[in-house]
Amino acid sequence: MKRHPSVTDKSNVIQPGATIGLLGGGQLGRMIALAGRAMGYRFVTMDPTEDAPCGQVADQQIVAAFEDVEGARRLAELSDVISYEFENVDAYVAEVLEQEAFVPQGSRLLSITQNRIKEKSTIASFGIPVAPFRVIGEFADLEQAVAELGLPAVMKTATGGYDGKGQWVLKNTEELREAYDTLSQAGVELIVEQFVPFEKEVSVIAARNLSGEMVTFPMAENIHRDNILHLSIVPARTTDDVRAEAERIAKEIAEKLDVVGLIAVEMFLTRDGQLYVNEVAPRPHNSGHYTMDACVTSQFEQHVLAVCNQRLGSTKLLTPVVMVNILGEHVEPVLSKQDKLPATAKLHLYGKQEAKAKRKMGHLNVLADTVEEAIGMIESLDIWGGKQE
Ligand code: AMP
Repeated sequence: MKRHPSVTDKSNVIQPGATIGLLGGGQLGRMIALAGRAMGYRFVTMDPTEDAPCGQVADQQIVAAFEDVEGARRLAELSDVISYEFENVDAYVAEVLEQEAFVPQGSRLLSITQNRIKEKSTIASFGIPVAPFRVIGEFADLEQAVAELGLPAVMKTATGGYDGKGQWVLKNTEELREAYDTLSQAGVELIVEQFVPFEKEVSVIAARNLSGEMVTFPMAENIHRDNILHLSIVPARTTDDVRAEAERIAKEIAEKLDVVGLIAVEMFLTRDGQLYVNEVAPRPHNSGHYTMDACVTSQFEQHVLAVCNQRLGSTKLLTPVVMVNILGEHVEPVLSKQDKLPATAKLHLYGKQEAKAKRKMGHLNVLADTVEEAIGMIESLDIWGGKQE
């Protein structure tokens, strides 16, 4: 077995030329590998789908299910350092990898971020505001929670949900039974949380390396459509105080959770300037794709620097930017209008074969002198509908 460095050795630096193993071969892995290869690292990815987005750009892909321990062992053998591009890593695989390989991100963070109950309780224990919530077992718990928290409220599965899946916005007591019966079919724990009447959704990505050096990327203002991220607007249209507070929260979470790599912190901003953390993700995040073209260092480069315990790069914003996601239904219009895209728009496509509706296929970073101008450029393309907000 390969000797691997210890996560407790803070002086350990993984030098270019080393191989980074990525659990998960989707678009995040692909963009990590593209950035890391430019920096001189090699990549091997593990993903069940042959020719996965990351497999296309990595040195090698192990085609194996995420819970395949033998596959994970091969990944460990081939890699000098292992990272993951999603948080739903099988607990046993994570344990095996930690024993047999160098996994600076660790698995503790995974167990917290995989479960909304742990995630919210942990963040609340730091004194950072989250929407008040209750854990739901039986239907009677839901009735009691709604009596205490009021309506509207949002019921969510504690595990497994993403992009609004496994969620129900409860508006009146008549729909409680149907919501409970539907969501409890997943057979996992449920929570219900107070609806936060937010003015904006925002996010900050913090990076931290093994030595404890920490930086944050500029806060993004995020607009969702059908619960899927649609636009990230940077700089976010809010005050310096809110931006500073959001960055402080992200740093505090990164530090207290002992993050190595990236952590994306999604927050609700209310009209009176209060921030509530909604959820965190220990990896590059869709709301950080703007950094690829608008910051000195992209979130993907930063992730590589952080897990390799290199000095972190500058997160300075070089230009206002708006990122717009390209879902399955947008691919054809984007391709047919390529010659109409502004010259300051950077197109990123993930190499996915099938352009299913709502599937994330790529994104466009539109750089401009102001975010309003960038939004105007996106509107005039008429690919995502006319009006954006
Ligand atoms: P999540 O899966 O927790 O990120 O939730 C998906 C989306 O649902 C969020 O981006 C919000 O737009 C909305 N949402 C979730 N929780 C709440 C809440 N407590 N209050 C208001 N909106 C919410």
